[in-house]
Amino acid sequence: MRKLFCFYVVLHLLTLTVLQVFGLTTESMEGQTLPQAPPPPMAHLDRIPLGTLSEMTDASRSVGFPSVSWTTPVVTVAFNGGDPELYALIEATASEWTSNGGRLKFSFRLGDGSFRKWSDSDIARSADLRIGFFTDADRDGYWSTVGTYARRVNAGEATMNFGDLGTTLSQYYKGNNHTAWLASYAHTTILHEFGHAIGLNHEHFHPSCQTDLKLAEIVSYLTGPPNNWQREQAMYNMDAKTYFATVSAKPSFTPTIDQASVMLYSFSDDFYKSGRASPCRPSGPLHYATGLSIEDRHYYAANYGSDH
Ligand SMILES: [Zn+2]
Repeated sequence: MRKLFCFYVVLHLLTLTVLQVFGLTTESMEGQTLPQAPPPPMAHLDRIPLGTLSEMTDASRSVGFPSVSWTTPVVTVAFNGGDPELYALIEATASEWTSNGGRLKFSFRLGDGSFRKWSDSDIARSADLRIGFFTDADRDGYWSTVGTYARRVNAGEATMNFGDLGTTLSQYYKGNNHTAWLASYAHTTILHEFGHAIGLNHEHFHPSCQTDLKLAEIVSYLTGPPNNWQREQAMYNMDAKTYFATVSAKPSFTPTIDQASVMLYSFSDDFYKSGRASPCRPSGPLHYATGLSIEDRHYYAANYGSDH
């Protein structure tokens, strides 16, 4: 299996975050009014709890994985909180990654068709990926561990969290408002976090983007009020050197930044040295990806044997 680390992971999330933080609203496209960007996620986007980050990076917990990519054909998923309609929405969205062929499958359900669950009191891991909808100060927000590093997290803890998405998506249940769902930030968020779960890192780790980001200002922004991130959390998410010192994956880069990637963050133009002309700036009218880009799919294909 090749370890192709596409930094093509979508920049769009970051874009979303920044847009929202700076009060920008969704623009109309082709005369249609698209859903407004959701509340500011930058405050919590990818802010992995420090305890989970510590477990994830504790080498003594290594279970012998050669890379962050899953080598098992089935990755099991369990939920804590939420409801079956929400689970089905997440299941369908996550499957956008695996629906292109390849050997990786997510398994959300037990043999009787019901969704797999986990609880805080579990001693044995009920699933490879454990999704929560926690909104307490430590765990709030949208985040995921990276690839097989999920195996290092304790059984009674989440490896992925969708915070308020546990209570805010009912208008999209059972296929309702499907077009709006596909354009929504929540849909992108789920794609983004499952991107991390299969081993992708942020597209803004691309060298051309790292040199254009005002890293010190971004870290200062995230560690200050009202976000109040810890510096480790900010550096893990924003600084490629820190990330690759933390996650033992070999970075490799595509020639140019993928501005359509779901792994690309959206920042305020003020956070780019080249401002609005930044190559890190997400493309598209919403300033975040609403689906997997070509390079996102290439990453999946390179790591999981997709034909596409
Ligand atoms: Zn992320």
